[in-house]
Amino acid sequence: MSSPVLPGATIGVLGGGQLGRMLCEAARSMGYRLVVFDPDPDSPAGHIADRHIRAAYSDRDALAELAADCDVITCEFENIPADSLRFLAASCAVYPDASALEIAQHRAREKRFALNAGLQPARFAEIHCRDDIAAAIGEVGAPAIIKSATLGYDGKGQAVVHDAQQALDAFIGMGEVACVLEQKIAIEKEISVIVARNAHGESGCFPIAENVHRNGILHTSAVPARVDAALADKARRQTVDLANRLDYVGVLAVEFFISRQGELLFNEMAPRPHNSGHYSNDACVTSQFEQQARMICGLPVGGMRLTSPVVMVNMLGDLWTPDWLSILRHPQIKLHLYGKKTARPGRKMGHFNVLAEDVDAALQLANTVFDELN
Ligand code: ADP
Ligand code: MG
Repeated sequence: MSSPVLPGATIGVLGGGQLGRMLCEAARSMGYRLVVFDPDPDSPAGHIADRHIRAAYSDRDALAELAADCDVITCEFENIPADSLRFLAASCAVYPDASALEIAQHRAREKRFALNAGLQPARFAEIHCRDDIAAAIGEVGAPAIIKSATLGYDGKGQAVVHDAQQALDAFIGMGEVACVLEQKIAIEKEISVIVARNAHGESGCFPIAENVHRNGILHTSAVPARVDAALADKARRQTVDLANRLDYVGVLAVEFFISRQGELLFNEMAPRPHNSGHYSNDACVTSQFEQQARMICGLPVGGMRLTSPVVMVNMLGDLWTPDWLSILRHPQIKLHLYGKKTARPGRKMGHFNVLAEDVDAALQLANTVFDELN
């Protein structure tokens, strides 16, 4: 491990969405210079970076320019081509490694990797062509969820199916791209664990978040999660095992289901800061974004202590423009907006964090304020 990249140096960020924006904000406040690489001239992170390189993620000339301008490069978006990361890594430090992204980019690869690391995904089977469907349903059972193996997010590219015919229809509807079929779990609770790990192998986990999704999109994260202590320990241990096995450097999020039977099931991972960690902006000693900057720069893991019980509420573009004052007048609420000009249904526009003396009180206030907004 080379010497740390200290404040004053330049960090490159592949991807210009809200995660990149909040990473830029955190790293800038530590004294770093930020270069964002994103084809969109109107990207949330590009707006606030010191420099915005507008080019396609496969543009080698532009990537070379990025590498020449940066001391270390990371990504806020997991669908950056792994080849582009490898190209950058030949001339600049790049974290996390291309291999971690390659695994996270493909649901079947990701589940197999998790299995080998000792985690337990829901029963699953791969579907490459129509002929695979009958066997897949036989193996997994019904009801099941068919998911495109790549490029899915916020519940997109998924369908619940009850038999082979429905699975076939859904497969055709998705354009017959590679898919995984997985058992539909009777979920008691969804949680996520975010681990930060540096190149020295030092790591730490953020407090576990308890997540509620609506229409496949994260709605709220409540922290501390109301889960059994032994189960929480297991989730943290498994997440650290996964990060170690990947020799991961950066912030890694792992989503778990807790089934009605009390099993801890691996759902998916994200090789970057995660929506369910946005609470850390206002309720942890170190935010997940500062932590990402620290990890890729080879700095010590920042303190992870929760400074207040908190509930994060996502604000989507479905109902826009909200009554800002109903949020801003509240002394217990912190508003975060991503600077996106156009609101679309399902598009993540911002979030707010509700701080309270306990998580139940935070949830109650969060729900009241959210209902008022609509
Ligand atoms: P995305 O990449 O869109 O986040 P996920 O696989 O995490 O995709 O699915 C989104 C949400 O859909 C999950 O958070 C969960 O609420 C629900 N879901 C996904 N897979 C299953 C499953 N096997 N059983 C039950 N619910 C599921
Ligand atoms: Mg998910």
